[in-house]
This record gives sequence, structure tokens and C-alpha cells, in this order.
Amino acid sequence: MLTDYHLHLRPDEPDTPPERYFTAENVDRYLAAAAEAGIEELGVSEHVYRFRQALDIWRHPFWEEQARDDLDQYCEFVRGTSLRLGVECDFVPGAEDRTAELLAARDFDYVVGSVHFVGERAVDHEGWDAWAGGDDPDEVWRRYFEALAECARCGLFDILAHPDLVKVWGRGRPLPERDPRAFYEPAVEAIAESGIAVEVSTAGLRKPAGEIYPAPGFAEMCVDAGAAFALSSDAHLPDQVGYRYDLALDFLDGLGVTEICAFEGRARRLEPLSARIRE
Ligand SMILES: [Zn+2]
Ligand SMILES: [Zn+2]
Repeated sequence: MLTDYHLHLRPDEPDTPPERYFTAENVDRYLAAAAEAGIEELGVSEHVYRFRQALDIWRHPFWEEQARDDLDQYCEFVRGTSLRLGVECDFVPGAEDRTAELLAARDFDYVVGSVHFVGERAVDHEGWDAWAGGDDPDEVWRRYFEALAECARCGLFDILAHPDLVKVWGRGRPLPERDPRAFYEPAVEAIAESGIAVEVSTAGLRKPAGEIYPAPGFAEMCVDAGAAFALSSDAHLPDQVGYRYDLALDFLDGLGVTEICAFEGRARRLEPLSARIRE
């Protein structure tokens, strides 16, 4: 089986109202792209911060600006399609109870947990740039992977999204001098303890980083720790569905991974990885 669970039905831009993107026609475009790529299980996971209910979790100014839509209308819309229902939910330290409440009130098939922010600033957002303060890159990376470890350990999420997102800018931001394995370590420990599925995301290939999330060294440590993997493109457009899965399959094959996680009603099963994919 091939899956693509971490998908967005619209780009991350301000003028992308649900009535234009949460439509049967748009879903059909994603389904057609998935069929073409040999992907059997397709699910959508919109950013939680685009929904008003997310302001119960965090009132960061970026969230205040983004939280326009209704989460229950989104869930209802997705339930009327053949897509699995997911959501991409940020880990907000200290807001675990409120996050748990928001998630438990809806019948998601899975929840993708992510870390974009370290403190008030984001590792992947120019408007809230974590590097703008001239912080030592070792410190930014250390804080990012600590937050990722907490995200894995909090038990609220099924899939750990783009696990080394901190590298998104590639050489466009200062890189730490230490061996990155030292940063991965606390996260791998938390992954092993929690059993959360580690996302292999081809989105990094579309970014300045130019490589899959997680980096090969990080992925190897996850394999050694007995982690399970989930496969996604983090598409924001139909033509990004299954983006460069040929490379993702080579990557997983190189790691000796033969099964991936599939989700329904927040229950997880392992499915054999299919090699049927167009190059
Ligand atoms: Zn994300
Ligand atoms: Zn995403």
C-alpha cells in the first residue's frame, strides 16, 4: 500500500477561503492525482491554526490572523468525501489539555503532530523567523528537537510530521557545527518511548533543504529504535500528491523498511509498502 496522509486542500496563503477549496471538484483533483500515483489511502490534514477553535489552544498573533474557518464544518465536509479525516496540529507546550479536548471532540482518523514554532518564533516562517534574533544555530536546533521530543511524548498525536523541519532553509540559514546526531538523540528516545509514527515527507525536496524529512542519519536512528513510519507529501496542491514517491520508496528501501502505517478512527495498522509506482 501507498498512503498520502499529510495533505492540504489549499495553499498556505491568506486568500484561500474554504468555499473555494473545500469542494467536491477540488477533492476529485486530489483523488485523480492519487490514483495516477498508485496511492490507495488519501487523507487530508489542514492546519489547525486556520480554524477559530485553535484560539482555545494558543493566541499567537500569527494564529489570531489565520484562524478564520470553522473546524467542525471542515470535518463535516471531509466526512462527505472518500478522504480520511486528519488535522495537522501544532504541539503547543503547556496547552496539552486544551489540545486534547479539541482533538477528542472530533472523529479524526489520525492527527499529524508538528513543531513549527520554538517559543514565539517559527523555524519555517519568514515572518516569524527563529533565526532573526541572531541566535546561535546550535541553540535553535537544540530547542527545536527538544520541542519535537515533547511533541512525540505528549501522546496527543499519531504521526510526527516533517521531523527535522528545522533544516528547511538548507544553507539559507546558519547550520549548527555539531554532529546533528546529538540533536536527534532526545527526539529518537521520545519516538521510541511513545511509539508515534515517524513521517517520511517528500516536502523537504521542494524546499531549499532539498532532501526528504527526516535526514538519512535521523531516519537510521529511528529504525534502530524500532520506530514505525508514515508516508506523505505534505501537498498543498493536487499536483504535489505523491510528490517524488520514487525517491521516498528508495529511501525507505535503503533503510530496510518494508511496512508503513495506515490509520482509521485513530487506530493504526501496518501495511506492506507497495513498490507499484510510476517513476
Ligand atoms: Zn507542517
Ligand atoms: Zn502540512
